[in-house]
Amino acid sequence: PELWSSEFNDFINKCLTKDYEKRPTVSSLLQHDFIKQIEGKENVLQRQLMEFIDVHQQMGVTEKARFERIHTKKGNYSKSLVSNQEDVDDLATLEVLDENTVTEQLQKSYAKDQIYTYVGDILIAVNPFRNVDIYSSQHSKLYIGAKRTANPPHIFAVADIGYQSMVTYNSDQCIVISGESGAGKTQSAHLLVQQLTVLGKANNRTLQEKILQVNNLVEAFGNAGTIINDNSSRFGKYLEMKFTCGGTVVGAQISEYLLEKSRVVHQAVGEKNFHIFYYIYAGLAEKKKLAHYKLPEYRPPRYLQNDHFRIVQDFMNNSFYKSQFELIEQCFKVIGFTLEELGSVYSVLAAILNVGNIEFSAVVSEHMIDKSNISNPVALENCASLLCIQADELQEALTSHCVVTRGETIIRPNTVEKATDVRDAMAKALYGRLFSWIVNRINTLLKPDKHLSGSDDGLNIGILDIFGFENFKKNSFEQLCINIANEQIQFYFNQHVFAWEQNEYLYEGVDARVIEYEDNRPLLDMFLQKPMGLLSLLDEESRFPQATDQTLVEKFEDNLKSKYFWRPKRVDLTFGIYHYAGKVLYNASGFLAKNRDTLPADIVLLLRSSENNLIRQLVTHPLTKTGIAIVVIFLLSFSRDTGHHPRETTSMKTQTVASYFRYSLMDLLSKMVVGQPHFVRCIKPNNDRQANKFDKEKVLVQLRYTGILETARIRRQGYSHRILFANFIKRYYLICYKTNDDPPVSPETCAAILEKAHLDNWVLGKTKVFLKYYHVEQLNLMRKET
Ligand code: ATP
Ligand code: MG
Repeated sequence: PELWSSEFNDFINKCLTKDYEKRPTVSSLLQHDFIKQIEGKENVLQRQLMEFIDVHQQMGVTEKARFERIHTKKGNYSKSLVSNQEDVDDLATLEVLDENTVTEQLQKSYAKDQIYTYVGDILIAVNPFRNVDIYSSQHSKLYIGAKRTANPPHIFAVADIGYQSMVTYNSDQCIVISGESGAGKTQSAHLLVQQLTVLGKANNRTLQEKILQVNNLVEAFGNAGTIINDNSSRFGKYLEMKFTCGGTVVGAQISEYLLEKSRVVHQAVGEKNFHIFYYIYAGLAEKKKLAHYKLPEYRPPRYLQNDHFRIVQDFMNNSFYKSQFELIEQCFKVIGFTLEELGSVYSVLAAILNVGNIEFSAVVSEHMIDKSNISNPVALENCASLLCIQADELQEALTSHCVVTRGETIIRPNTVEKATDVRDAMAKALYGRLFSWIVNRINTLLKPDKHLSGSDDGLNIGILDIFGFENFKKNSFEQLCINIANEQIQFYFNQHVFAWEQNEYLYEGVDARVIEYEDNRPLLDMFLQKPMGLLSLLDEESRFPQATDQTLVEKFEDNLKSKYFWRPKRVDLTFGIYHYAGKVLYNASGFLAKNRDTLPADIVLLLRSSENNLIRQLVTHPLTKTGIAIVVIFLLSFSRDTGHHPRETTSMKTQTVASYFRYSLMDLLSKMVVGQPHFVRCIKPNNDRQANKFDKEKVLVQLRYTGILETARIRRQGYSHRILFANFIKRYYLICYKTNDDPPVSPETCAAILEKAHLDNWVLGKTKVFLKYYHVEQLNLMRKET
């Protein structure tokens, strides 16, 4: 029987069944038909098995490690050992890495609750949509300092690799988690923090507890229920865990990006406001403090009224919200917020809900038909009292505005529409600034103590949990920012995969200059270049008071001479971009306002007069402004190869969203890019949030988006097939030799076969034949003919 025959594989399968206990004993094996056939040959089974393992070892150390584990009876991790590569832990060891193979492998693993798979050094995580028992403290221990091949793929292994590299190479690390909404990014980030805290052996339990609370707290304010995910992150988050050079965790630091503030004042059908509003409502009701915070007890505040909640009892009596309130209050306390601060946070939240309840009516007078008046003074009074400002001044700021003409200040009334806009802008600004304040406060409270870190700098591991690529029916400024960010990540990812590819060539001694891949660099240039990139143009237009969204789109069209940009109709506000993940149509309506992101000066001045310390802080400090900072996280690596480092002169004074990020990010990216990147690609197996349901088509689309198949494509464009000499000879020797020949396993034999087949452009490495995909097609054809 042949080493590679299906008979042999079946035999191996039986010998090494999944369940170790059920594996046949040696004596029962000797009774097996297969053994009987090879009887008399000394230790044949053993030898063939070892050969089999050895060949596989070259393809990836996985199989060998498994074999050793199985045979030395250490641990219970055993899987069937099959030559057609069922159950591969590392998809990069597949000879052929195409869409179908990858999806099938993921599906097989998923069916066995193995939700993690590697593609080289990238981890793919398929959301199980149910609790899988793989995160216990025993599991956590299993992955500490373990060889990657010793255990099944796991998110804890990524934490470990990051941690070990940090300590070994004394360098910062960065873990980038991506995937679409509901794919499991935030969950993965939690698990990473959890494992890193274990690895970093925090000296004091308090610090460990504090770090573990950070995500919960930030998510109560930044996450919300959407139609896709009940706990959807509505902001981008970069969490850095700080370590000493020796690897002890000493603190943490968060940066937040692009909080979806518009959700405060309006939610789409089927969606909810940020969690925290419902939590405080239920929690304060329980504490009989609704009246204290002037929260209505019958009709839900306007901002919380939606198809989920028509009456306030819908969320007021919700026991989950009540328990969440307790939890969040606990988080605040553990992290170190004072009770006074906590009270102020509730006041601001309650004030926001009261702001939303302020209503306006048009005042019809002979001269000024456009004037507006507040029709429910109670809401106004409540709001003023919670914000510790004067009610009449608030009324003034909402219903009128100042214009300065020829040195004179004139007060002009606001129409009902304008007053409503100011009201909502105030609510959004308050919430956005409160969120930033909380984040800043956490950063202060979790800042490493100089005594602890032992040095000024220390080391850190950053975890980036960022929204995936978005393409809705209507796409606005937010989608553009998110998609540019993803474009950057994709670029970085390509660079990385390319390097990975390059390494294999290097190892095999193969000249790799032939590899080419289509990169998204030109598209990034179109967005980021100065002064003619899309973002610069947007900033420039935002500085003209007369500019409109229409003039903005026209400016884009006149200046962006790129095949990636187009305008379907020349008249309206739509424009399209060909992103790496597909084409997206954007509507520029509101772009300028969103980029300027201004709060009327009257409101700012008024809030500055507040008697509440926290409220004054919200409007005085230039808090980390939510911006599209993330976009340039990878700019450094990007500009490195042009030899041109982005230099920033933008001052804090120019506060457009687009310009601020350039300013605020230089620090962040310099930290990130020097470190080694690690990628976690989250995959959503179905749209119904159902366990045990693997929608192949759905997965395939994401594999394309997340660049897993990009990896495959890059390989296909290079030498898509790398076949071990032994395998190659076994498969194709008939092209050159006779049936009974037994040519030696050597590069010469391989060359003889390839020459006989009249192929060129192939390469021989140290252990593998490197072939283009068309070579394989040709060889298979010839093999059939022989
Ligand atoms: P968004 O972009 O909307 O923030 P996300 O990618 O962060 O989405 P998560 O909130 O992490 O998605 O995951 C969505 C849900 O999927 C979780 O609430 C949880 O129920 C489930 N889930 C994700 N990962 C796991 C896991 N490893 N084990 C069990 N359940 C999981
Ligand atoms: Mg999330």
